Amino acid sequence: AGSLDTAWALRWMRETARVIAVERAALIDLDRAIGDADHGENLDRGFTAVLGKLDTEDAPATPAAVLKLVAMTLMSTVGGAAGPLYGTAFLRAATSLGDAEEIEAAQLATMIAAARDGIVARGKAEPGDKTMVDAWTPAADAATTAAREGSTGAEVLAAAAEAARAGAVATEPLIARKGRASYLGERSIGHQDPGAVSSALILEAAVDAAG
Ligand code: ADP
Ligand code: MG
Ligand code: MG
Repeated sequence: AGSLDTAWALRWMRETARVIAVERAALIDLDRAIGDADHGENLDRGFTAVLGKLDTEDAPATPAAVLKLVAMTLMSTVGGAAGPLYGTAFLRAATSLGDAEEIEAAQLATMIAAARDGIVARGKAEPGDKTMVDAWTPAADAATTAAREGSTGAEVLAAAAEAARAGAVATEPLIARKGRASYLGERSIGHQDPGAVSSALILEAAVDAAG
């Protein structure tokens, strides 16, 4: 695996845009079951706008600059609950990196935890509330553990993505306590949370971008 540098951050965001477009309908279906059927559309609009900026503006010079561009774009284009939540996550992630040109394992774990903390600060959800926090919290924990154990950056990413996917799957039996899905009460049981699933997709894209 190559180094986690600006080129990786750019590949990560392009891969995310690609995967979100592929999974658009599936995310819409998940949100139709417990929300208003727009999560796939919202995110696809946002990441398509990200691609537009990457293709037309000067290339960002650091990983943080890539993530900051994404944050600003998502905040202004995604809307709904997910726009400000992902916007805050990417902004906090960017800030945690400073002007580093290459991201080491420990910094990566800090970055994922910063994203999670931003989502929690913004949305006030706790683990088990059936939100994207249920993907990001195990991801941050797994990344922290992997970094402490001396894993490489790519291994830290893989651990985070695997934990995020397991966390998303584990939202299925939960009752939603935050966001639109919470209006359904017990009827929210039996479906994975769309935001937790899109969060797993984003972290899996980070792994794929690290090759
Ligand atoms: P909306 O609900 O406004 O239509 P989206 O469908 O784009 O927005 O996003 C819904 C997702 O946002 C949910 O699946 C959930 O993961 C996430 N979400 C909603 N409210 C919160 C919250 N308070 N904290 C964390 N995540 C939340
Ligand atoms: Mg929705
Ligand atoms: Mg909506």
